[in-house]
Amino acid sequence: METGAGLVKSGALAAPLRRFGALLLDTLYPPVCLSCDAPVATADALCTACFMKLRAISAPMCPVLGLPFEVSLGPGALSAEAIADPPPFDRARAAVVYNDIARALVGKLKYGDRPELARFCARLMAQAGRELWGPDAVLVPVPLHRSRQFARRYNQSTELARTLSRLTGVPVDPQLVIRGKKTKQQVGLSRDARQRNIAGAFQPSAAMRSRLRGRRVIIVDDVVTTGATVKAVTRALKAGGAERIDVMSFARVVVGSDA
Ligand SMILES: [Zn+2]
Repeated sequence: METGAGLVKSGALAAPLRRFGALLLDTLYPPVCLSCDAPVATADALCTACFMKLRAISAPMCPVLGLPFEVSLGPGALSAEAIADPPPFDRARAAVVYNDIARALVGKLKYGDRPELARFCARLMAQAGRELWGPDAVLVPVPLHRSRQFARRYNQSTELARTLSRLTGVPVDPQLVIRGKKTKQQVGLSRDARQRNIAGAFQPSAAMRSRLRGRRVIIVDDVVTTGATVKAVTRALKAGGAERIDVMSFARVVVGSDA
């Protein structure tokens, strides 16, 4: 429409028009909670009740595994898990404890085709992982096997990494590591079975060394459970020449957490 186009081009009127557009959209599709569909004030958010159920992970925490400590153990003190079984990566951080509400969000993120959920999760991850971001880093989402990606048409880790990249300025390279072996779903497997299932599932891509160019890698995943998957990706990255590797997830299992 001639008049409409003229109005949009005019700088003074563009902003009010956009606000009117947003208002109109909100009236037609009022924003709802990403978890329970209760009405909320702004899009891409949880209602207060659901938000209160999320358990953000913050200091004090294990500097290696990012596990929250009840009380501060002093600078540099590691968790018992990190001492007993040192991981192949340098640091892992997660935004929230994997509890019922986090499980519901991740479930929707994986299967529900809800891009606004990736925005919500990535905002919390950008905040929780702030010590990891830097100009020397690259984000590497945990790849799905080709057939699974084809069936689902969506890799939640890639969506999280892309959104995180927009928020942090750290670039994404989904091609550094490939998933060669098709594995069983990790859900329902014991810790040992998970490790056996995932071992050797990932390989560095043929072009990894030239693509990496000495950068630090940050592996991005939705949930870290036993860590078997991110450890397997770390080993593939090391085989391809990466030396510094961190892990950023939306949620992580915290054993003994009451949530
Ligand atoms: Zn809610």
